[in-house]
Amino acid sequence: MTPTPARASAATAHALLCRTRCSRRRALPASSRSVISHPAHPFGCAEKVGGVKVGDDELDVAIVGGGMVGLAVACALSNMPLTKHLRVAVIDSNPALKSRNYLKKDGVPDSRVSTVTPATISIFRDIGAWEHILQQRHAFFGKMQVWDYTGLGYTRYSARDVGKEYLGCVVENKVLCEQKKDLEKMIYPARLLPSTEADSIGNTSEELRRSSLVKLDLSDGQTLYSKLVVGADGSKSNVRQVAGIKTTGWSYPQSAIICTVEHTTANDCAWQRFLPSGPIALLPIGDNFSNIVWTMSPEEASRHKSMSSEDFVMSVNRALDFGYGPHPSSSSLDHYMEKLFSGSGHTAASTKECFEVPPRAIGLISERMAFPLSLMHSHDYVSKGLALVGDAAHTVHPLAGQGVNLGFGDAAALAKVISEGVSVGADIGDLSLLSRYENDRKAANVAMAAVLDGFQKMYSVDFGPLNVLRAAAFHGAQYISPLKRNIISYAMGDKKSPLFS
Ligand SMILES: Cc1cc2nc3c(=O)[nH]c(=O)nc-3n(C[C@H](O)[C@H](O)[C@H](O)COP(=O)(O)OP(=O)(O)OC[C@H]3O[C@@H](n4cnc5c(N)ncnc54)[C@H](O)[C@@H]3O)c2cc1C
Repeated sequence: MTPTPARASAATAHALLCRTRCSRRRALPASSRSVISHPAHPFGCAEKVGGVKVGDDELDVAIVGGGMVGLAVACALSNMPLTKHLRVAVIDSNPALKSRNYLKKDGVPDSRVSTVTPATISIFRDIGAWEHILQQRHAFFGKMQVWDYTGLGYTRYSARDVGKEYLGCVVENKVLCEQKKDLEKMIYPARLLPSTEADSIGNTSEELRRSSLVKLDLSDGQTLYSKLVVGADGSKSNVRQVAGIKTTGWSYPQSAIICTVEHTTANDCAWQRFLPSGPIALLPIGDNFSNIVWTMSPEEASRHKSMSSEDFVMSVNRALDFGYGPHPSSSSLDHYMEKLFSGSGHTAASTKECFEVPPRAIGLISERMAFPLSLMHSHDYVSKGLALVGDAAHTVHPLAGQGVNLGFGDAAALAKVISEGVSVGADIGDLSLLSRYENDRKAANVAMAAVLDGFQKMYSVDFGPLNVLRAAAFHGAQYISPLKRNIISYAMGDKKSPLFS
């Protein structure tokens, strides 16, 4: 375990993303102004605040990064009564954010998809985005099967085990970025730059007022000022680095290959098999398509990326079915265990389900992409005038499809705290206010990162006694109904802690 110190020292950070003491003021060009101003904005007519004219280059919230999580913050703020009037801009130069006519419900699904949990779906409903997502390609699934290559055990989960209709929903990432039509108006197409300019200390009333704002230097040469900067700029967050926030983390000796495959029939179950090199998941994405997330060593990943598509499909089918070891089956000990635990309460519906073989892939229908995997956690999520969300604050192993779900939880919690601040007339960049967001999210995010890291380690070792322990874990999760329900509730985001409560 190698701690990763933040690359920028706090002193450098101060010079880069600074609380401004600058006397310089550059107005945005007319085109940029229209991009970032909100129609219902009270500052639209440059009204006076504290006797000082508020400029067009001033924002309440500057969200750096228009990925799924940054856009969720913007969507939540634009949806809540107390925050919808705030001047919010999403700063991201990704051209896809400005030309959003690429969503085709009936086309071949993208290889970049996410499994969203019921907790995320309820956040999306609250922020008015779920209806929009439902109009695009998506696939709910109510069943899941997890097993490993030794053939010593398997676990099946069903939404019915916890009285729900589904366990999760698989959605293309580009659809999760399309949360609301009018979000496009908030996109400011530039990137945050490190600024090395020395700021002069101002002494006019305007300079003093601006000294309480955060200054952002952008790649288009403009400078914006904001009461609050939200770092939603991914795992290599520029915001985090220039703010000097340290991280802890390590790289996994693994990469994940993702792609879309086709079957002869529809797949309605999420499948995951643990192999010696890492897990392979087959996730339904509608029609006869499934998404593959296959973790392996970086060398194996590059070999699997470059092999012919026929060989790749054969390798996928081997990994999901007949390769490495036998299919698991139930034993008389399992039935004894089931009887023992059914005495202590309601038996979960999936407990009696037998192991099933996943549907075979018949073709590869997308490009294959490989991603290096790492665990990273920011020591702080907030400082004065700044909050980190999503992968800028934490990255986790994708084996349980939780990463962006944690990010959406951050987005909702931060938006709530900003709204509470507005309701009492507080400064939305105030550290004590923002700390409430950190307190709400940190423990849950750390717990999930630890659980996933534990799984990654436990399933990466091919060692006799550990294999037996893993088999026991599969059997326990399959036949001990309270344990099964606890696991499902935690994975669905209904519980913040993995422990029984
Ligand atoms: C193989 C794989 C499979 C996964 N599957 C799942 C899953 O099934 N479920 C799940 O919950 N999670 C999953 N994840 C995790 C998920 O993809 C991430 O958690 C998610 O993408 C993080 O979103 P984000 O918006 O925080 O960051 P990002 O998606 O990294 O977005 C960051 C944005 O910031 C912008 N940006 C960067 N720097 C700057 C700058 N200087 N100025 C302006 N803008 C900037 C970028 O252009 C980008 O748009 C998976 C991850 C991997 C690798």
